[in-house]
Amino acid sequence: MIEIKDLHKSYRTGSNSLHVLKGINFSVKEGELVAIMGSSGSGKSTLLNILGMLDGYDTGSYHLDGVLIKDLNETKAANYRNKFLGFIFQSFNLINYKSAWENVALPLYYQRIKRKERKDRALHHLETVGLKPWAEHLPSELSGGQKQRVAIARAMAAEPKVLLADEPTGALDSVTSHEVMALIQKINDEGRTILVVTHEEDIAHMCKRIVHLKDGVIVSDEFVEQQRAEANV
Ligand code: ADP
Ligand code: MG
Repeated sequence: MIEIKDLHKSYRTGSNSLHVLKGINFSVKEGELVAIMGSSGSGKSTLLNILGMLDGYDTGSYHLDGVLIKDLNETKAANYRNKFLGFIFQSFNLINYKSAWENVALPLYYQRIKRKERKDRALHHLETVGLKPWAEHLPSELSGGQKQRVAIARAMAAEPKVLLADEPTGALDSVTSHEVMALIQKINDEGRTILVVTHEEDIAHMCKRIVHLKDGVIVSDEFVEQQRAEANV
């Protein structure tokens, strides 16, 4: 599903250049649940943003579902993102003035799906995350865990092949973090490929494979015994 070879990325600011990814080799098969671990500044978000086509890379190659992702124009990149990828962020990134279902339906709007069908599909995804009764509520009326579940429903709305989560539990307490991970495990059980960036050891161990990033290189890449989290939805 994902294949990365000798990938390099530097950030340039003025006359300075910061070499962040220094030759990443990494592939992910369909149905995997992979944690990308590493301390702050190790390049986790940079890697995830490249995988999510939110940012480009300098040299090496990135294939997503067999397609070389390199120097795509913005329209084409947006099409691919819509078709292949769903995103989950630490800070939820919900739109404050839209209801839960409207947030979930947003990716479908860009696919030009009619409002009635958008709402039906959004309600279905909210039901999956246990939040159908909250469909008409605004994000400000929801707890942190509920907001993240809405964000997960939104990430699933367009049925992406791959879910990319950047510190999805970073803003949540430990009990809520486990509930969110239980949901991520459930979605993975249904066959979805998921990558979770985290710096928390116990969150990483709820995945099936842990990739350690240090100073822009992968220092270990191992399959682990998955710790199951208790779903409460
Ligand atoms: P992590 O997610 O592992 O904490 P990041 O990928 O966010 O690490 O950042 C890796 C390094 O790149 C850090 O030193 C960070 O300051 C730097 N960096 C990240 N984004 C940018 C940017 N847009 N411009 C310049 N430097 C950046
Ligand atoms: Mg980060």
